[in-house]
Order: sequence, then C-alpha cells, then structure tokens
Amino acid sequence: MLDFSFTEEQEYFRNMLREFAKEELLPNYTKWDREGTMPKHLWKKLGDLGVNGLRIPVEYGGSEADCVMTGIAAEEIGRGDFNLTYAVMLNSLIGEIINNHASEELKQEWLPQISSGEKIVGIALTEPAAGTDAAGIQTTAVYKNGVYVVNGEKSGISVATIGDAFIIFAKTNPELGNRGISAFICPAELPGVECKGYEDMGNIPIGRGSIYLNDVELPEKYLIGLENKGFSQVMNGFDLSRLLIGLQCVGAAFQSLDETIEHVKVRQSFGKPLAKYQAVSFPIVTHYTQLEMIKWQAYRGLWLRDQGLKHSKESASVKWLGPKCSQEAIHECLLLNGHYAYTKEMALEQRLRDVIGLEIGDGTAQANQMVIANDIIGKEFRSYERPAVTK
Ligand SMILES: Cc1cc2nc3c(=O)[nH]c(=O)nc-3n(C[C@H](O)[C@H](O)[C@H](O)COP(=O)(O)OP(=O)(O)OC[C@H]3O[C@@H](n4cnc5c(N)ncnc54)[C@H](O)[C@@H]3O)c2cc1C
Repeated sequence: MLDFSFTEEQEYFRNMLREFAKEELLPNYTKWDREGTMPKHLWKKLGDLGVNGLRIPVEYGGSEADCVMTGIAAEEIGRGDFNLTYAVMLNSLIGEIINNHASEELKQEWLPQISSGEKIVGIALTEPAAGTDAAGIQTTAVYKNGVYVVNGEKSGISVATIGDAFIIFAKTNPELGNRGISAFICPAELPGVECKGYEDMGNIPIGRGSIYLNDVELPEKYLIGLENKGFSQVMNGFDLSRLLIGLQCVGAAFQSLDETIEHVKVRQSFGKPLAKYQAVSFPIVTHYTQLEMIKWQAYRGLWLRDQGLKHSKESASVKWLGPKCSQEAIHECLLLNGHYAYTKEMALEQRLRDVIGLEIGDGTAQANQMVIANDIIGKEFRSYERPAVTK
C-alpha cells in the first residue's frame, strides 16, 4: 500500500506549530538578526512544546517521536524563524548520537537538559584543513591516566559562541584513517576550550565560530561509544540532519512564496494585479513545483529512516537540492516584491542570506552528490582514496 497522508496526530502537531510560528516567531524573525542576539528563551519555549526532544526517549525528558514528525517541526519552524530551526536539527542529530552511543551516565547528564532547552549542544567536526574531506581532521585525543588530552581547532561550528557543550571529533588512532576517529562530549567551560565567533553573512543568531582546544583534559567518561568509532556514528546521524535541513529550507521558501502570492494579488501594474501576468505567476508555479517535490522526497527519506531502511542517497538528494532551490525561490520572491524587499524592512533579504548558509553547512552540493554517486555508480569509481590502514 502506498499512503502519502499524515496521521491525525501529525496534522495536529503541524497546525499547532504553524500557528506558533506565525504568531510568536515570524514577527521577531528579523529582530534577532538585526540585534545580533540569540533568543535562548525560544530554545526553552521549543522545549516546552516538546520540539527539542523529538528524537529523545521519554525517560530522558523527550517525546520519542518518529522522524516524520521531526520533519514537520523543521518545516514549520522554518516558516517562522529559519535560525531557530537549528534547534530542531541539532537536538535531533545530537539526541540520536547520545542516545544511541553514549553511556547511561552521559545520557542522564545531557539528554534531559537538551530536551528542556536548558543546554545548547553543538557538533564540531569541521577543521580549517578538513571540511568536505572530514576524515582528514587533525585534532588529536591522547589517552593518559584516565583523561583524553585534546589538541586541535574546529572551524565553522554552529552555536560556537552560545553552546554549553560540543560533540567533538578527534583522532585517537591516526594510523587508522577515518576508522581512528572518536567522538566526545566536550563542555565549553573546560579549561583549554576557547570559542570565537565570526561575522557571518547570515544565520547571525546561531553564533557560528571556531573552537580552539588546547591541552583540554577530557575525563574518560566523555567518550561517546567506542574508541575509534566516532566517524561511523556521526555519518548515520547526518542522514537525518540533511533531511531536516531540506525541510527547514523548504519551509522558509514556502513562507516566502505565500507572502509573495498575497503581494502579487494586490500590487497593481499597468492597471492589473501582478498575478494576472504569466511572467509573474509562472515563476511562482515553477518554484512551488520544485519545492513540493523536494518536500516529498524529504518525507520519503524520513519515512525510510523510521522503517529502518536505507536512505542515505535520498537524504543527500534533499540536502543538495533543498537549500539550492529554496534560495532560488526566495531570490525570485524578493524580485517580485520590488524594491522594498531589498530593504531590511522585509524578511526576504535575511531569508536569502540565511538559507545560503545551509548550501554549505552539513555538506555542500558536491559532497552530497558524491554520496549519491557512490550508491548509484559505485564506490570503485569515486575520485578519492581513503588513506591505507596500517594496523
Ligand atoms: C552555516 C554553516 C553552518 C555550519 N555548521 C557546522 C557545524 O555545526 N559543525 C561543523 O562541524 N561544521 C559546520 N559547518 C562547516 C561545513 O560543514 C563545511 O564548511 C563544509 O563541510 C565544507 O567544508 P569547507 O568549508 O572546508 O569547504 P571545502 O571542503 O574546502 O570545499 C570547498 C569547495 O570545494 C568543493 N569540493 C571539495 N571537495 C570536492 C570534491 N572532491 N569534488 C568536487 N568538489 C569538491 C566543495 O563542494 C566546496 O564547494 C558549517 C558551515 C556553514 C556555512
């Protein structure tokens, strides 16, 4: 049976979040960008609504929802405040990693605080010399007398300036290549951790920046899962975050289209509403069609994940096309709204800047196309070699 309908519970959740996004998020979306502040109280509000803990079990304060439900949250919050959707995406990704791989002690320490929105946790993989080629990270974690001594630099990290902790990746056995990478929870307050923000083009309230790790002594208990298995643990998580990012971007683009449709019905040119000109209505239709297709591919990927079926290539397809088509749609909306949309009076210029960030974050189009090529053409035809394993 093929069934594209959402359940009653999912529809209720969507309506509740759409109302919340319209009433409480949209009116202030540009405020945080203009002020350069992070609305931490909204992360708590998402905690109250059960959005932070969607992928966290009930026993740790979460709501243990499925991935489709999590996608609905990403799409609807994306309509109201694109940047706040980082909470949906990061908390789902990190909630799953901690829940699936960390010790009971770490679960009890972190999951309830992530669910409630009390604590913000980021994920730090990228380094100055290793982005797309994430296996090339150089940060090291050397085990000595019950602690891992961590040295390195993480760059481009979301919530770097506001995070209470980060899941960091470091080489515990450099000779094993990407199989020698381990994951740790690293509280931001530990001696030797220093976070510095960037002056970004968009996503301002997310506080992206670099994290410097100088002789940070991480107690052994902060290791997540098994030593040298960190890379495989997070790679599976990216299959979720990429689907959520697709919906986050599509949500922002649909909101822009809705606003633009209202505008072109009212705005007159040469004695007629703009909407009467096909040169205006057809671009709207083109973007609407593309976004609908990406949206359904995203929900299909989330459904596959809920069934425990393979979904890496679906996820990668949504990640490479979603942010791209969304920013193109928002750009078109900006033009159709005329010169006012070029001012900071309207949200469109900010949405455009914000969405472009996720054409890079969590893997560029090329990085995701590599995932699909590996699947449909074959890994033996990929352009890069993994370093030989010497042990
Ligand atoms: C808004 C935002 C949020 C982010 N948040 C996080 C975060 O929370 N945590 C984190 O760890 N990182 C984060 N990042 C970093 C992001 O994941 C990296 O920037 C991204 O993976 C690309 O790496 P890079 O910038 O080093 O580019 P590079 O890897 O140097 O790539 C540069 C260009 O070359 C292309 N390229 C590279 N290799 C190939 C190839 N083999 N074939 C074809 N093209 C190739 C890329 O697609 C890209 O266009 C974020 C970035 C942004 C912009």
